[in-house]
Amino acid sequence: MKAAPEAQKRLLDLAELDTSLDRLRHRRRTLPELAEIDELSKRLAKVSTQIIAAETEAGDLARDQAKAESDVDAVRARVDRDQKRLDSGQVSSPKDLASLQSEIASLQRRQADLEEVVLEIMERRETADARVTALKAEREEVAGTLRAAEDRRDTAFAEIDKEIGELTSNRPAITADIPADLLALYEKMREQTGVGAAMLHGGRCLGCRTSLSIADLNSIRAAAHDEVVRCEECRRILVRTAESGL
Ligand SMILES: [Zn+2]
Repeated sequence: MKAAPEAQKRLLDLAELDTSLDRLRHRRRTLPELAEIDELSKRLAKVSTQIIAAETEAGDLARDQAKAESDVDAVRARVDRDQKRLDSGQVSSPKDLASLQSEIASLQRRQADLEEVVLEIMERRETADARVTALKAEREEVAGTLRAAEDRRDTAFAEIDKEIGELTSNRPAITADIPADLLALYEKMREQTGVGAAMLHGGRCLGCRTSLSIADLNSIRAAAHDEVVRCEECRRILVRTAESGL
């Protein structure tokens, strides 16, 4: 392939620009905020699930408490009713009196047991409510940290995208100076190796950092200025300049 030395030198400008673009795209993909956002989103989802579970538990306990309290009320009402009968003096048979007193005593024991149950449920409910409150505070905190990380990501994205936009808009001015077949070879090598063209500098290919053999340098020296030469090692287009050491 042949191309004017000036067009070949433009490949170095293009390679520099493309390397900058690659670096920016890499930075965009690997922003530390992205991993942070991913981790925080997972934590937020986990805390939200925990809140639902804790609220369900607190709700169940509230229902249990209401049920236990109504049981206590029912027993208390029976005690009151029996006590009134006892106080009224209407029950006169000693046998009936004894039976009524024994029923009151039994109901009072039952009431005490049920009140114990209510207290126990209230304690568990307090713990469950405190857990809901703590989890909600944690969710707020995680959500705040997540929003801050998203803001930092968006700011970084905007800066990177601006630079990418500027470089991309500069690219056609460079490619316009390069013939189509040379540009196609450059793109092919860029696809294969990441960088399409490299400078021959002091006898070294700056693409793969290999020092060329005397034989290779001699054959490049012998090649016409408009001959497109390649690195024998990495196959990239090797661009000759005043610093090539030829
Ligand atoms: Zn090379």
